[in-house]
Amino acid sequence: MKREIMWGIVCGMAAVQGFAADEGIFTCQVGEFTVHLLVENQGQGNPSILLGASGEVLNRYIPGGTYRSEVNTLLIRSPDRILVIDTGFGGSIFEHLKTLGVDPSQVDAVLLTHMHGDHIGGLQKGGTALFPRASVYLAQQEKAYWTETAANHGAVAALAPYGSKVRTFLPRPIGAGEELFPGIRAMAAFGHTPGHTLYQVESKGQKLLIWGDLMHVQDVQFPLPAISVSYDTDPQAAGIIRKQVLDYAVQNKIPIAGMHLRYPAIGRVTAEGAGYRFSPLTTDAAEGVDG
Ligand SMILES: [Zn+2]
Repeated sequence: MKREIMWGIVCGMAAVQGFAADEGIFTCQVGEFTVHLLVENQGQGNPSILLGASGEVLNRYIPGGTYRSEVNTLLIRSPDRILVIDTGFGGSIFEHLKTLGVDPSQVDAVLLTHMHGDHIGGLQKGGTALFPRASVYLAQQEKAYWTETAANHGAVAALAPYGSKVRTFLPRPIGAGEELFPGIRAMAAFGHTPGHTLYQVESKGQKLLIWGDLMHVQDVQFPLPAISVSYDTDPQAAGIIRKQVLDYAVQNKIPIAGMHLRYPAIGRVTAEGAGYRFSPLTTDAAEGVDG
């Protein structure tokens, strides 16, 4: 198994010892936590979602007129819990869990970054909870917006089968706050949606920031983080918090994982010019490379 060490965390392509490398699964060890990034879906993205990107910007950063876009979810095994972060559309996630030997009934909690369809699609089918034993955690602001203010049918249906096992919390500012579970901190990054939440994993001094939908088009939004997308409920707020989170990751050398970054979708952020540069872990990295 090829491995790469990045800012203290060790990552590799093979799922776990004994399993063959799988294109749709990328695994990192964060202290005592094993984090699996699971690819739900890959496709071609439409740059027209970028708000205010000039023709010059598009020609420079997306010269082909389209980019590979992806939907990811994560599975986290801590010493005492199995957690899922977002559920994608409810497709490949279940195949990947099977590959990893995890039955959905073993999942203790599903943590949501927000309630868009590509994140809550795997919660239920036909009114039945697909994670039968799990509690569902999300920001209070997120639940209130989608189930009350917007009264979104899909959002209401996604949570319904979990009943009293839906738990809300108030995410704290970036870098602050108490833990939701041992080793898991929820941070507010409102803008993409009214309660969009990031989850930071921390164990034995090692960290990984799971940033949900902080970014959708990495080719443009790392160099030009002020550019938001049409999916952002509040594009201006999304731009401000994006820069704040990028600075936080750079200054604290915390690797990041994103739901719409390309496989392996985990890497490091550094400052570059007026923007940022993302260095994804390579799947064919030499052993023991440390950055
Ligand atoms: Zn999304």
